[in-house]
Amino acid sequence: MEPTPPNQEDCCNSGCNPCILDVYEDQLKKYKKNQLSAPLNINYISLTTYASFKLIKVIQHTQNTFFYTFQALKVDGVRLIYKPGQHFLLKGSHDNKYFTKAYTPIPLREDDPLSFTILVKLYETGRMSTYLKNIKLNSETLWRGPYGHYDLEFNYRFMLFIAQGTGIAPLYAVICRMLENESCETFLKLFLCCRLGDLVLRNQLYSMTSFWNFTYEIFLPCAEFVRSNYNETINLFPLQLASLRAYFDKFQVSDVRVLVCGSDAFTNDTIKNLIKCGVQSAQIFQF
Ligand SMILES: Cc1cc2nc3c(=O)[nH]c(=O)nc-3n(C[C@H](O)[C@H](O)[C@H](O)COP(=O)(O)OP(=O)(O)OC[C@H]3O[C@@H](n4cnc5c(N)ncnc54)[C@H](O)[C@@H]3O)c2cc1C
Repeated sequence: MEPTPPNQEDCCNSGCNPCILDVYEDQLKKYKKNQLSAPLNINYISLTTYASFKLIKVIQHTQNTFFYTFQALKVDGVRLIYKPGQHFLLKGSHDNKYFTKAYTPIPLREDDPLSFTILVKLYETGRMSTYLKNIKLNSETLWRGPYGHYDLEFNYRFMLFIAQGTGIAPLYAVICRMLENESCETFLKLFLCCRLGDLVLRNQLYSMTSFWNFTYEIFLPCAEFVRSNYNETINLFPLQLASLRAYFDKFQVSDVRVLVCGSDAFTNDTIKNLIKCGVQSAQIFQF
């Protein structure tokens, strides 16, 4: 807060140490200095122009998925600002043709405030997959964003997150941020549907079960052999109506908020089944 100037007559001219006027000058100088160095709320990434990020790390996660970490150039007073669950658009190129694809930053402890990490599934013939496979460390990449309009909600008693494969990215970001909030009293449940080779973030999810209010179940499409951890539920069948019914049987359906992210086909099927369980469309948020 800007210091209030003393009245001139407050100085008694008798050489007090410290003099009230000197203290004021000193406080005013500090205030002005702090104002200059105060972090500005200027976002490094923009909705309308591309910002440059350096690729600084690539780590293989599962058979087909990789963590890619990108870092902004350091600019004083500028930050990377986005909400959990929002996505950025990456500009790729091939044969001088440009295209964009969406990716969702996920929270990783190692990331500094100017870097972000995405979990990417690389497809054999995918255009952006090919671009990402070929970019070298320290190369410049172009991004814009953030897009997406989900706002964290703490007013529900129960939240059910339903993800397909890397569709877990926005849901994981939201769950992490909710668990960080010590006053969150919502029970969070994640249903993760994927193939064994795409079973992403499993260790991270397992360690998150140390929070009293988080649990998850994995749904694999067929009976594949997989060793489950202590207290980890792995269903060797796809997520269908029966599992959703079993979940909703325990609660008042209207107390549950549902967040869904996956392919269009997966999302449509899931929403149809949710409606059969009595969930209203307004209770469902689709990423
Ligand atoms: C809002 C949003 C957020 C996203 N966030 C992420 C993210 O965090 N991580 C991530 O990995 N992806 C994410 N995606 C998907 C991503 O944008 C690309 O679509 C994906 O990486 C494939 O791009 P591509 O150019 O490599 O493949 P394309 O050239 O689009 O497709 C080539 C072939 O790959 C296969 N393919 C492509 N996409 C899929 C798919 N989803 N399911 C099955 N087969 C497919 C198909 O056979 C297709 O013919 C997100 C998409 C949206 C809309």
